[in-house]
Amino acid sequence: MTYQGLIHRYGHLLDLPAHTQNISLLEGNTPLIPMPRLGKEFGCELFVKFEGLNPTGSFKDRGMTAAISEAVGRGAQTVICASTGNTAASAAAYASRAGLRSIVLIPEGKVAAGKLAGAIAYGAEVIQIQGSFDDALSLVVEITQKTPIALVNSINPYRVEGQKTAAFEICDVLDNAPDWLCLPVGNAGNITSYWAGFKQYQKGLPQVLGVQAAGSAPLVLGHPVDNPETIATAIRIGRPARGEQALEAAQQSNGRIIAVSDAEILSAQKILASEGVWVEPASAAGLAGLIAESAFGKFDASGKRIVVVCTGHGLKDPSVITDSFTSPKVIPANYEALISLVGG
Ligand SMILES: *Cc1c(COP(=O)(O)O)cnc(C)c1O
Repeated sequence: MTYQGLIHRYGHLLDLPAHTQNISLLEGNTPLIPMPRLGKEFGCELFVKFEGLNPTGSFKDRGMTAAISEAVGRGAQTVICASTGNTAASAAAYASRAGLRSIVLIPEGKVAAGKLAGAIAYGAEVIQIQGSFDDALSLVVEITQKTPIALVNSINPYRVEGQKTAAFEICDVLDNAPDWLCLPVGNAGNITSYWAGFKQYQKGLPQVLGVQAAGSAPLVLGHPVDNPETIATAIRIGRPARGEQALEAAQQSNGRIIAVSDAEILSAQKILASEGVWVEPASAAGLAGLIAESAFGKFDASGKRIVVVCTGHGLKDPSVITDSFTSPKVIPANYEALISLVGG
């Protein structure tokens, strides 16, 4: 039978209320791409779970199909979220699919072009906040406590339910959980969901390496960060809503949460692209973490099976690339000019 989306495939394993009405864009079922060349450098079997291939270009669609399906079933007419960009695009797409109004709050000037464009294209009412993601999230919580507007940030428990499916998919493809799972950590909904998913699925447990950006690393520092800064805008979050659960996942799995610099993130982004997988900066943090840990000798990857989660597509944030490259050469439109440039 053709693929019919996450709730159809894994709904029996998700704690969703009976009133849930399936709203799907056939999200999930993303490829687990083997990376033999890169894996060889670590002496391990390496895979990328490429979540950029979801309908709106990030893993947020897994949680959003669940959150919007529940909200529709309960009779919600308007949904709202705070977002660094990808949640906004995803909420807007699923709300439109369901015929709901969507409102998204984003930090002014801090959302990548491809994400903002997505939210607008899918029909969200986009509001910029003169403040951070964390400020936007506080406002969203307040308005959903005082009005019937439904909250679809990852503090919504159905988001976590939906996002567990990525762990199920990995186990289904590998037959077992990998030895290590490396992924970026922002608001910490995803790491929480993976850990819950692996525990529930009972195909073994990975050790979890959660990776924050150094300028935005509250879970590494042990305190909130008031003005988080990083080029990896999707993880530019100073007060992670599920921080406690992220630390628990790291600890229970005998893993850890570390921070990497923006330079390390950009370098990992280049390495992934050199293997044909272009991801947005935040999405490269998992690999950056793996590289950093190996370089410091804190990590013996050899013989291990490792999954790096690449959370969003490179097309989301093209300016990271276009701002730094020199424009392609211009030549006259004739063969002589072409062959003299390219060589034989
Ligand atoms: C949301 C997001 C993250 C961070 O996920 P959390 O659940 O907030 O920790 C990382 N990468 C991308 C591309 C995202 O959209």
